[in-house]
Amino acid sequence: MKHFARMSATYAPTLKEDPAEAELASHRLLLRAGMIRKTAAGLYSYLPLAWRSLLKIEAVIREEMEDIGAQEMLVPMVTPGELWHDSGRWEKYGPELMRMEDRHGREFCLGPTHEETFTDLVRNELRSYKQLPVTLYQIQDKFRDEMRPRFGLMRGREFIMKDAYSFDATVEGMQHSYEEQKDAYARSCERCGLRALPVVADSGQIGGDTSVEYMALAEAGEAELVWCDCGFAADTEAATAGVTVVEGTSGDLEKVHTPDCATIADLATFLGVPESATRKALALVDGDGKPAVVFVPGDHEMNDVKAEHVFGEFHLMTDEEIEYYGLVKGFIGPVGLPEGVTAYADESLRQSAWWTVGANESDYHLVHAHPGRDFQIADDNWVDVVTAQEGDACPRCGKPLHGARGIEVSQVFQLGTKYSEAMGATFMDEDGKEKPFQMGCYGIGVSRTLQAVVEQHHDDQGICWPVCVAPYEVEIVPLDVKGEVLDVAERIATAAVDAGLEVVLDDRKERAGVKFADADLMGFPYQVILGKRGVKNGVAEVKERASGERTEVPLDEVADWLAERVAPQRA
Ligand code: ATP
Ligand code: MG
Repeated sequence: MKHFARMSATYAPTLKEDPAEAELASHRLLLRAGMIRKTAAGLYSYLPLAWRSLLKIEAVIREEMEDIGAQEMLVPMVTPGELWHDSGRWEKYGPELMRMEDRHGREFCLGPTHEETFTDLVRNELRSYKQLPVTLYQIQDKFRDEMRPRFGLMRGREFIMKDAYSFDATVEGMQHSYEEQKDAYARSCERCGLRALPVVADSGQIGGDTSVEYMALAEAGEAELVWCDCGFAADTEAATAGVTVVEGTSGDLEKVHTPDCATIADLATFLGVPESATRKALALVDGDGKPAVVFVPGDHEMNDVKAEHVFGEFHLMTDEEIEYYGLVKGFIGPVGLPEGVTAYADESLRQSAWWTVGANESDYHLVHAHPGRDFQIADDNWVDVVTAQEGDACPRCGKPLHGARGIEVSQVFQLGTKYSEAMGATFMDEDGKEKPFQMGCYGIGVSRTLQAVVEQHHDDQGICWPVCVAPYEVEIVPLDVKGEVLDVAERIATAAVDAGLEVVLDDRKERAGVKFADADLMGFPYQVILGKRGVKNGVAEVKERASGERTEVPLDEVADWLAERVAPQRA
């Protein structure tokens, strides 16, 4: 930075009132501090201050990518539909895929991710094992027509992503590329000031521990995770934890009158048993259109992602469908299910011999229902479908898991040959045979990262930018914008710039109270406050935004004092 910036000339329209649409602190503060504006639902404009932070985040990512030999490039955001037909995703990807036609009636989509484009790019030109491995990446806007865009940059429809794709000759090679990306992602989080945890993620059809998400820990995060003191951590939709199932009592099958007990909570209270001693029934129609009922422990939820692995593109039955298939809402059980409806149960229920379940009759439940005696779950129909939760046993060490919430800022994936096979992307291997590439894909939510940083670094007054990604490192706040105070302020600003700092000077003719409030709201890491008295005494008050700590520093030492503290905190 050669010059300091002037607040009077900075486009950062602040808001006094909390915007009604913003639920999350980070969203509210980015709006209030004049850093982002909503253009339409899920479409945000990054104003100059936020853009400076975004460029810093991108710079960190670029350095980390360069360090592991990944090469930056750019493909079009608009993607030809035929590539998506090639991969089979044109049909499979839901309404999040923004499909469109050009004037000639050709199909296109806005890229929500770019496996197809990159695979197509190499399929005819990356020919020999001798050229491998290759990792390519870009930083680009993505578009996903999210059902519920919300929380500002957290879940936008258009958002900035860094996406990388690795091409290897062997599985081991792919795993190596993956590990390198994974480590680079950990460093990227840390260098951007995020406290993030790598967690085992759902790896789709591929299975195994082949995907990790980095979760920025935050109460307000949309993602739920479980973790253990032993080091295990997983997204609740990916973890197969040990569920403790509370057993019902043994005895002959018995029908009990349970009026007004259509929910698990009501039933448990009515019977005087814990919810975990009951069995929750979920009625669904699977991807092939077949009706099914899945039983899970009463205190656990069925997980949509896990359920998709079992049932394909299923949906929960509507009230009409429940009736159509002869089921009774709130009272569904495995004994005497209507013909054609298949019973499934979560793996965890294998341990349980005595179930409390609906009687398939309004206002009645059954107790002492005994698998094998009163009903059957076919061998193949024991499935892993529940969301892991706090208190379940760690799959690694058996201790109770802790729960936490997080913001998924990035994800790494071993893809294997999923796309290369589907799209016929092959290379000539050492043995002279054509083989599909072993691929990996890796994504960082750049704009989401920005807001995650704010979510982790703020207080009631505003944002507390960590130095590493702050729009400016230092704000000079003269309480008088004429005469000597302004002269001294400009002198310090120039000295600070010369010392290598990024500086903004609040030269606006505003009351001290307004300047203090805005400085705290925008949250630059250091504020240099200059008043008439201080200038007379030859000292400035330097306030560290995050801690609130104030130090009196002699005027001619301010620049060095700041430089000494700021430099080690840079990304
Ligand atoms: P989510 O589960 O939050 O919808 P995802 O798993 O679908 O995210 P990926 O396909 O893994 O997302 O994309 C890589 C990264 O892009 C994510 O880790 C996230 O940081 C970011 N990202 C995904 N969707 C959005 C969105 N709608 N708005 C902002 N960032 C997003
Ligand atoms: Mg993801």
